[in-house]
Amino acid sequence: MQSPSNLALVPFVSVENMMRLVHTNGLDSMLTRIADTIEQDFLRWDQFDKTPRVASHSDVGVIELMPTSDGEMYGFKYVNGHPKNTAEGLQTVTAFGLLADVHSGYPVLLSEMTLLTALRTAAMSALAAKHLAPRGATTMAMIGNGAQSEFQCRAFQAICGITHVRLYDSDPAATQKCAANLAGSGLHITSCTTPEDAVQGAQIITTCTADKQNATVLTDNMVGAGVHINAIGGDCPGKTELHSDILHRSDIFVEYPPQTRVEGEIQALPEDHPVTELHNVFAGRTEGRKTDKQITLFDSVGFAIEDFSALRCILDAIQGTDFYIDLDMLADPDDPRDLYGMLNRAK
Ligand code: NAD
Repeated sequence: MQSPSNLALVPFVSVENMMRLVHTNGLDSMLTRIADTIEQDFLRWDQFDKTPRVASHSDVGVIELMPTSDGEMYGFKYVNGHPKNTAEGLQTVTAFGLLADVHSGYPVLLSEMTLLTALRTAAMSALAAKHLAPRGATTMAMIGNGAQSEFQCRAFQAICGITHVRLYDSDPAATQKCAANLAGSGLHITSCTTPEDAVQGAQIITTCTADKQNATVLTDNMVGAGVHINAIGGDCPGKTELHSDILHRSDIFVEYPPQTRVEGEIQALPEDHPVTELHNVFAGRTEGRKTDKQITLFDSVGFAIEDFSALRCILDAIQGTDFYIDLDMLADPDDPRDLYGMLNRAK
């Protein structure tokens, strides 16, 4: 999109432009496009530099950097997780990210990623469920009705054909908000007052709560044979959602084991507990769901390649549009070695 002369200008996608982009393309189409790109990138797993994200913990939350590269492009996301924030009128999760050209090291995209994280997390959940959920699943329990929840429901509708969602949140106001936002989506919505009620008749259970503790959002007796669990909210050391008995009954699927062993539900299990890497399922090297009775668990924590894929989609989607502004973010002296002279001349 840039000629060599303006490589120093970096396209920036603001929250406002991200919203315009989603509305212009349609939410379903964006979710599907991001899911397809994540799947393509997981199919070339070996081409990527992979490392667990770098986390800086405090008593109330975490700030993380998530880098990766496929040798052509480099990307990273900055993301926080502060469950106490909503009580202060702030979001639990905010993010921004960058893509750069490996050959020059110059950034080619800077983007908001708060909305984009919600889109990519939902796309990844639905992509995993496409391979793991029982065939013909129509009903999903959605436990935790905060910022991510509607995106999760819409992705399961668009990508997995879910028609019914059963909502539960420990704060009824969150459930009311989620139900109101999903009205008109075509989904049949049931608001529930207990998590036990929410899981009734659901073939898929998504847990997406925020609490900085080892919570028990699901107990063993709530999970019947054949269910697929999409566990989103347990994504930090000491922050989990499922009773460990559920883990022992489930076949567990993960993004990148070195990160999930530290951050996911499986932090409660011994280091050698078997897990399946999702890229192997997507590539057909390993089976996903094998039987109707099997409990499958996607122990989601969010991995850097998913953000890289989402940023790739955005870079592609803004071509030929005005859904970005150019940022004067890199110094561009006439003589590349005369940075000091450039400063002097600007006096
Ligand atoms: P949010 O704060 O907007 O919403 C969380 C909701 O959970 C709130 O409405 C809260 O009332 C509810 N809740 C808390 N404890 C509960 C419980 N025991 N039972 C039922 N509901 C409960 O947060 P969000 O942005 O929607 O994120 C949700 C979680 O997902 C966070 O923990 C976040 O870190 C995680 N997350 C994971 C990924 C990933 O890739 N795996 C990506 C984004 C966010």
